Amino acid sequence: MFLTISTTGTPERPATDLGFLLHKHPEKTQAFSTSYGTAHVFYPEAGDERCTAALLLEIDPVALVRRGKGKGKGGAPDAALAQYVNDRPYAASSLLAVALSAVFSSAMRGVCNARPERAAQPLPLRIEVPALPARGGAELVRALFEPLGWTVTATPVPLDERFPEWGASRYVRLVLDVPAGKLTLGEALRHLYVLLPVLDDAKHYWVSPDEVDKLLRAGDGWLADHPEQKVITSRYLARRWSLTREAMQRLELVRLADADDTDVDEIDNAVDEESDTEDKPVPLAVRRREAILAELAAAGAGRVLDLGCGQGQLVQELLKDVRYTEIVGVDVSVRALTVAARRLKLDRMGERRAERVTLTQGSLAYTDKRLKGYDAAVLSEVVEHLDIERLPALEYAVFGSARPRTVLVTTPNVEYNVRWETLPAGHVRHGDHRFEWTREEFRAWALPVAERHGYDVRFEPVGDDDPEVGPPTQMAVFTRNDKNAKEVRAA
Ligand code: SAH
Repeated sequence: MFLTISTTGTPERPATDLGFLLHKHPEKTQAFSTSYGTAHVFYPEAGDERCTAALLLEIDPVALVRRGKGKGKGGAPDAALAQYVNDRPYAASSLLAVALSAVFSSAMRGVCNARPERAAQPLPLRIEVPALPARGGAELVRALFEPLGWTVTATPVPLDERFPEWGASRYVRLVLDVPAGKLTLGEALRHLYVLLPVLDDAKHYWVSPDEVDKLLRAGDGWLADHPEQKVITSRYLARRWSLTREAMQRLELVRLADADDTDVDEIDNAVDEESDTEDKPVPLAVRRREAILAELAAAGAGRVLDLGCGQGQLVQELLKDVRYTEIVGVDVSVRALTVAARRLKLDRMGERRAERVTLTQGSLAYTDKRLKGYDAAVLSEVVEHLDIERLPALEYAVFGSARPRTVLVTTPNVEYNVRWETLPAGHVRHGDHRFEWTREEFRAWALPVAERHGYDVRFEPVGDDDPEVGPPTQMAVFTRNDKNAKEVRAA
C-alpha cells in the first residue's frame, strides 16, 4: 500500500519544508511499527522546487488476522480463507488511513513546532495513490473529493490488462491536486484519513463508539457542510446505524453552532453599549460571569465543569483563580473550542496551568461518563440553544448521570426583552435560541428537575432586577441533597 504527497516550493519557501510539516526528515528513510505492519516513510525527491514524501505500508497479514479474530463479522463460509487471501497488503485502504494517523499525527492536527506559521499556510499539493479500492467507482471518488477543493483524476484500473473486455476492477489510480492557497497539509491529511476508508467500504476493524469522536475530529471544518455527508458518515462507521445517527445529529449541531458566527454575547453587549450614557455599565456577560464565580466560591467548588463553554471566557476567569484545581470546558462546537484554545493560549501555557484545564468536544444531549464526579457544573446561556424536546436528555446527562454537587444554570429572562430597545418585539435575543423563558417558565422547568434528581434549587437575578419585568438574566442554583435520588435512579 502506497501513497505519495508532493508539494512545490518557491525561493522563499523551499518545498523541503514538507519535511518539517510532516515531522519526518527528507534525508532519512524511517520505519514505524503500527498495529497492522510496518510503515516506511521516505522521500523519492527532495528539492527546493519539488518535494515528495512517500508512505509505504507493509502489512503483516498474520497480525491482521489475529487482531481481527472474534471481532469481525465472520460467518461467511469462505471467511477463514478470506482472512489470508485478500487485497489488504496491496491496495490502499482503511489500513493506510490508520497508518497515516499513526505516522503523521502531529501533521494531521496541524501542529508544527519548527515552522508553526507554515502549518497554517495552504500549500500546493499533489497526492497519488496508485491502487485505491473504490466502491462506487471514479464517480464517487470525484463526489467525495471535489467539494473539498481537489481536482480529481481517477483512472479505473483494468481487471486484467491482457483482457480489456473484462472491464475495470474496483480499483482506481487516484491523483488529487490542489493549487496553493486552498488547503493546509493538515486538512489534506484529514480528508484522506476519513475518505480512504469510506471508499474502501470494508472496514477491517471493529467500530467502537469512539469512532464517532474520531470522525468528527478529523471532519472538523469540512464534514458538516459536505454534500455527501450521509454516505461518508455511514460508510466510515461501517453502516452502524445508531452511530451514524449520532454522528449526523452531532454534525447538525456543529452546523448550527457554526452558523452562529456572531458572538453569543453580541446582542447583550450591543444593548449595554447603547445605554452607555452615564457611567459605563458593566456588560451583562461580565455580570453573569461575576455572579457565577460568586456562587462557585460560595459552594466551595474546586473541580468545575463548564458545559457549553463556548469560546472559553469563563474558563479563562476560572484559571486565574488557583482554588479551581480542575476546569473542564465542554462544547459541541469544535470551532468554539478552537477559539477557546486560542484565547487561553493553551499551546504556550506553562505545564502547571495547563494541567488544570481540559477542553473537550461533547454534546449535553448524551450522557458522558467523563463528566462524573465534579464539584460543580455551569451551564451559562446554554439550555436555550437546545431544542426543547432535547431538554429531558440534557437533564438526565447533567442531573442524573454527571451529578455534581452544585449546578448553575443561567438563561435569558424573556420578559426583559421589552427593555432591549434594539430588539424588535417578539424576537429572541439570538438567532440560535430555540426558546426563551419567562421567570415562571424557568421555575416550571427547574423545580421538577430538582425534585426528580435530589437537588434543592433557588433562583437569583443577574443584572438589574427590574420591578416589573425582572432581571435580564436568570440563574438557578441547584444543590444536591440526594433526597428522592435513589428512587429516581432505581426507577
Ligand atoms: N457558556 C458560554 C457560551 C454560551 S453560547 C457563555 O456563557 O458565554 C451556547 C453554547 O452552547 C455554544 O457554544 C454552543 O456551541 C453550545 N451548545 C449548544 N448545544 C450544545 C449541546 N447539545 N452540547 C454542548 N454544547 C452545546
